[in-house]
Amino acid sequence: MHLNQITEKVFVIQSRTINLGLILQGKECILIDTGLDKTSGQMIYNLISEKGLQLKAIINTHGHADHFGGNARLVKLANVPVYSSAWEVNFLKSPLLEPFSLFCGVNPPQILQNKFYMAPCSPGENILSNKDFINYWGIEVVPLPGHTLGMIGIRKDNVIFVGDAYLCKKILDKHPVPFLADVDALIGTLAMLKDYQDCDYQINSHQGIYSNLKDARHVIELNIQRLEEIYAVLKKTLDKSPKTTEELVKATLEYVNVECITYLVYQLIIVTINAYLASLLDKHMIQPIIKNNILYWSRV
Ligand SMILES: [Zn+2]
Repeated sequence: MHLNQITEKVFVIQSRTINLGLILQGKECILIDTGLDKTSGQMIYNLISEKGLQLKAIINTHGHADHFGGNARLVKLANVPVYSSAWEVNFLKSPLLEPFSLFCGVNPPQILQNKFYMAPCSPGENILSNKDFINYWGIEVVPLPGHTLGMIGIRKDNVIFVGDAYLCKKILDKHPVPFLADVDALIGTLAMLKDYQDCDYQINSHQGIYSNLKDARHVIELNIQRLEEIYAVLKKTLDKSPKTTEELVKATLEYVNVECITYLVYQLIIVTINAYLASLLDKHMIQPIIKNNILYWSRV
């Protein structure tokens, strides 16, 4: 983990897998996301302490375990408040909700209750209820729904931290079916970020630090293109005949030329396909039909 200075008051704490934000005001600082687990929480605390800084608060972009897994350790060490959006706070306070929602809203199996999908419990408050905090730190809270329903970006000066709104090219190549909870909201978020003129820097949580809008725009366009390609594949596949959810997962994976052999990855792809199905249902483009006790999706 090392500190990468972006502007006078804005830093990125970089590790191999994640970019965390650090905003300074004198010797005080706030964090944007805390990484995967207690080890990352401890490493962040050590890094901040070595610099003689005092942690005042944590903001989480969203309630995925790899973004708030370090909260519990940091809250224990520094006794600081934690903020996110009203929706995401539910996930911070009740971490079982992540594997619960990945597994269709039932008590999730132990294999999904691992540290990648379930972080230790954290406190959490709705950031928009604390205008004094927002004003004191001179930050702007930017709603970025899509990857999750309540993800937020944090802007400070000419830098915006965008969480998991989009994937950098390398990760998009490796995981060509992005995890998402609301595809239309995500396309709207990406269209907004693509033309986000006022910021010089967009900091993506996983490996992407874009120092000019042109670079950010290019990678965002790749993400939008992929989302639209998946739409097209699903519609084309359903035009031929009704399909089950698993058959649609198969068609999507074949389109991106991936053979998925890992259950935990497959489960995330099912969620993404379900988000597309929700969108197509709401647009009255498909309907559920049940034949021989099997659920199929059929074009209207
Ligand atoms: Zn995420």
